[in-house]
Amino acid sequence: MRVFTGIAASPGIVVGRLKVVDRHRPSVNERPVGEAGVGVEIDRLRDAICATRTELELLRQKLEGATGDEHLFIIDAHILILADERLFAEASATIEADQINAEAALQRTLLKYRATFAAMEDSYLRERIVDLETVIEKILSSLTGMVHTVILPPDTLTIIAAHDISPADILQLDRTHIIGIATEIGGRTSHASILARAFGLTAVTGVDGIADLLLDGSPVILDGLTGCVIVNPDREAVRECLERKRHYACLEDELHKLRDLPPVTPDGHRVRLRGNVEAPGEAASVLIHGGEGIGLYRTEVLFMNRRQMPDEEEQFREYAAMQRAVAPHPLTIRTLDAGGDKLLEGVPLITEQNPALGVRAIRLAMRMPEEFKKQLRAILRISALGRVRVMFPMISGLEELRRAKSLLEECASELEAGGIPFDRDIQIGVMIEIPAAVTMADMLAREADFFSVGTNDLIQYTLAIDRSNEHLTDLYQPLHPAVLRSLQRIVDVAHAAGIDASICGEMAGDPLYLPILLGLGFDELSMGASSIPRVKQVLRNCTRSQAAHIAETCMTFATAADVEEYLTSEVTDHFSESFD
Ligand code: PEP
Ligand code: MG
Repeated sequence: MRVFTGIAASPGIVVGRLKVVDRHRPSVNERPVGEAGVGVEIDRLRDAICATRTELELLRQKLEGATGDEHLFIIDAHILILADERLFAEASATIEADQINAEAALQRTLLKYRATFAAMEDSYLRERIVDLETVIEKILSSLTGMVHTVILPPDTLTIIAAHDISPADILQLDRTHIIGIATEIGGRTSHASILARAFGLTAVTGVDGIADLLLDGSPVILDGLTGCVIVNPDREAVRECLERKRHYACLEDELHKLRDLPPVTPDGHRVRLRGNVEAPGEAASVLIHGGEGIGLYRTEVLFMNRRQMPDEEEQFREYAAMQRAVAPHPLTIRTLDAGGDKLLEGVPLITEQNPALGVRAIRLAMRMPEEFKKQLRAILRISALGRVRVMFPMISGLEELRRAKSLLEECASELEAGGIPFDRDIQIGVMIEIPAAVTMADMLAREADFFSVGTNDLIQYTLAIDRSNEHLTDLYQPLHPAVLRSLQRIVDVAHAAGIDASICGEMAGDPLYLPILLGLGFDELSMGASSIPRVKQVLRNCTRSQAAHIAETCMTFATAADVEEYLTSEVTDHFSESFD
């Protein structure tokens, strides 16, 4: 039995078998080829090794003279590895013995080498595994043609272990067989974790070393509530896990009973609780969990895993499906927030040193106004069908907001000229997720119909802590006084201007934060569907005046730790039944 600990990124407790995949490298799916296929696979392997060697020799020729000779020894070392018959012999013996495809045999060979090198005493020799990895990666690329391959699970309940998993990968997972994910990197608010929660996939991130060991096929317990991953669990661990799983299911059933009760405090104050969604299928889950509409529709998911961007008609159909699914409740559509960790294959890739500070969200949209206008027209057309709001992500100041609004206005004029119906009074929101937008909130409030705070990014940019960095989770502090002061300013400024303030970042879905957010005066909280009942339960137990007092006290502390200590004790003393 081996126990790993990581970050609890998506709740649930699941038991299955591990499939180790490596998303840094071409995805390898193991395939039995039978006796008859062995020769073909060995030929493929030989050809791929030859092609890789030719590629490296050509590269060497190109670099010779152009960059000086001092770096060429690295390429020479790789060519030497390729020339060594042992790599081929080892992998082809595996093809023969196990009757599997060349890619899988090569992958197994790599895992064996990794274990051998890891045991070496000499650190220089130990690190030479990197060269071997690079070479094998290149052969694999040649074998797979380097296309993005979907992770295929075996026919059992499977838990994926990987160094990293992208949001695009999550979208393509076969969720009937894949029930959980354990990754080495990533945090609770990484976009992949958010999607995992949306799809009900249990996830643990920051699990050091899980993808590097020979664990493929091992039985595993993945606990997305505590962040614990147990490989090859003993009987006692399985028994305990099943008990916890049953307890969790009972709690969920209890919370479900809140579905039809109103989101109102005991002293009669109502807060709108809404859902965050990525695809039309999720709207039903928001309603099942008692959400009153959608506070954040992340449209970028429609643009992922495809070479061409969706045209206006396709977007119209997709958004209309979402609108129908949530009607008569309102739908808040956020315009494209691609870039950062959400890469689109249809957009030419820009190499950026700091993608989170790069061409992301509204900045990317503004660089392709014709594509952006297709989205804006589709959204406007949906507004004729029901209650629809639009909001722009990553606005840093008035110029950006005005440019986005003027493109929207252009689209409105075009639709008007074509006699196509839309809502002339569609509400336009600004996502407040950049510190500059907090500073400029009073100006922005004059030209927006509502604010929606993206706390995931607001915390990241306020504290300069990468939201996906598993090494900094303790410094990613939603209760940092700087964050709380920003939230207070946003809501105060919004209300002074007569507009609503919502939160659609992950903070909205954590019941511990409810008293502060309620006390500060937020009008709407939008969260992953499954969080709605938990937040509603605390809301129904906490009066507005209690919350105002708690929020006021929280604002007096100088550190996140002090706020957390006070808040946790208040919440456990007064609303503890919500946290059992
Ligand atoms: C946020 O930043 O809090 C947010 C809601 O947007 P996203 O998580 O999609 O960046
Ligand atoms: Mg954001």
